Amino acid sequence: MKKDIDIALEAEMKPIKEIAASLNLSEEDWEPYGHYKAKLSEKLGEKLEARPDGKIILTTSINPTPAGEGKSTVTVGLGQALNKLNKKAVIALREPSLGPTMGLKGGAAGGGYSQVVPMEEINLHFTGDIHAITSANNALSAFIDNHIHHGNELNIDPRRISWKRVVDLNDRALREVVVGLGGPVKGVPREDGFMISVASEIMAVLCLASDLNDLKERLARIVIGYTYDRKPVTVKELGYEGALTLLLKDAAKPNLVQTLENTPAIIHGGPFANIAHGCNSVIATKTAAKLGDYVVTEAGFGADLGAEKFLDIKTRAGGFEPDAVVIVATIRALKMHGGVDKKELDKENLNALQAGTANLKKHMETIEQFRVPYVIAINEFPTDTEEEIHALTSWCEQEGAPVSLVQVHEKGGSGGVDLAEKVMAAADQKHQPLSYTYDLEDSIEQKINKIARTIYGASGVEFSAKAEKQIRQMNKFGYHHLPVCMAKTQYSLSDDPAKLGRPDHFKITVRDLYPSIGAGFLVALTGDVMTMPGLPKQPAALRMDVDTSGVVKGLF
Ligand code: ADP
Repeated sequence: MKKDIDIALEAEMKPIKEIAASLNLSEEDWEPYGHYKAKLSEKLGEKLEARPDGKIILTTSINPTPAGEGKSTVTVGLGQALNKLNKKAVIALREPSLGPTMGLKGGAAGGGYSQVVPMEEINLHFTGDIHAITSANNALSAFIDNHIHHGNELNIDPRRISWKRVVDLNDRALREVVVGLGGPVKGVPREDGFMISVASEIMAVLCLASDLNDLKERLARIVIGYTYDRKPVTVKELGYEGALTLLLKDAAKPNLVQTLENTPAIIHGGPFANIAHGCNSVIATKTAAKLGDYVVTEAGFGADLGAEKFLDIKTRAGGFEPDAVVIVATIRALKMHGGVDKKELDKENLNALQAGTANLKKHMETIEQFRVPYVIAINEFPTDTEEEIHALTSWCEQEGAPVSLVQVHEKGGSGGVDLAEKVMAAADQKHQPLSYTYDLEDSIEQKINKIARTIYGASGVEFSAKAEKQIRQMNKFGYHHLPVCMAKTQYSLSDDPAKLGRPDHFKITVRDLYPSIGAGFLVALTGDVMTMPGLPKQPAALRMDVDTSGVVKGLF
């Protein structure tokens, strides 16, 4: 089969004007950004307010292999399939980050015949939103250092600045740095560090804000660190919420593009799901729900990460509930969970597949706990054998779970029509209101314990002495009522990436906690997870190139 980039470059894209017209948008509702991309107007939300909402479909998955299980691919394919059934479907995705694009994972624009296009632009600089987020974040760092340099009126303790600089790359050398070296004219020396932009609080703020006003208020609430007498210091006290909002004013507008089959797709915001909250923006999801009968959106990695945060954090911020969930599973990844080495996943192994279903079962239970109907999508790979497909389908049926074999990678929308029909049926079911994993009134320890026990299947949580101290401090400042955004490896239900399948008798270790008051959640770092990833020995970038006429090569 052709490579993703070759399929994408052959796409017959429609001018973005036609895609906007298919959504009944008038000229004032959007601005063109080149021929095939547009920014939706900030006034659109208000204009659409009175319209009824379409059904919200959330795509999630089992714990993935490093290559991904095709969640974006299925999200795009399902949107295309709904369109084939003459339903007005809008896809709502996250913006890819350059870190994993140049590193290991590859792009995040779908794959095969289920991609959003222009994929090479979406995967690289797109409309510059992540660059704007990086600039806003680092402008704040510069304002903080400048404040200290010019007399430090707010009495900020340079040793207790929690605000970090960011760059949208995997760059392990920047995890810990010292800034301000070189004498008095170069500022005040202090320890700093870099995170990847998509893990930044600014990204989370942009994704959870309901409009520009809310964005400014959230930015104002950001806590950048503490004074010498341990009081939190906010952006409002520094006085830069206006400038930061200004830097983000265009990034706050959702981007409109299309799929290979010209289904409209809104791509906006891109927080990682292992170290951030993992869902595209509230503005994008809500706009898509107003514009379509169905919005198909994704939350990153498995249901233990992205879906949990979508359901416990994003729905609370956005005031909506999904109508159905799609759990993407692949035979390859289930065999890995059943004990097969990553290099052997191409070979038939029915026993390992059977053993690996334990991982899928846990994610099914998780979605059941939230009380949202779901459908399992088996994303078919060329290496899957008939026996394996039969075994997995029968297992799902025995479990009483609706299941669909999906061929959207190979066939586009027509490979997902059965899934679309089952998803529509699930979304039409009358289901009980969403049942959150925890109450906001629960203590911080209780919230983390409930997530660890019910979502990960852990037997408990251990807090480091540092984390316990941080919790006491957060209680003192009145932050305990906020939801918790867990940072955990995506590869395992536990906080140890090597524990595959459905581990039991394990504890989650919370080693560090920090408040993201602007975003409106507390981040708990578990295991060894880091907010700045590193590159593998052979980064994907080694295969990338562009020829003299500007044709892109090697983007997967
Ligand atoms: P995720 O969203 O789960 O991380 P993606 O949808 O980004 O996964 O897919 C990851 C990679 O796997 C992409 O390069 C895509 O082309 C490829 N892929 C997805 N589904 C299939 C499939 N059914 N057959 C072959 N390759 C696939």
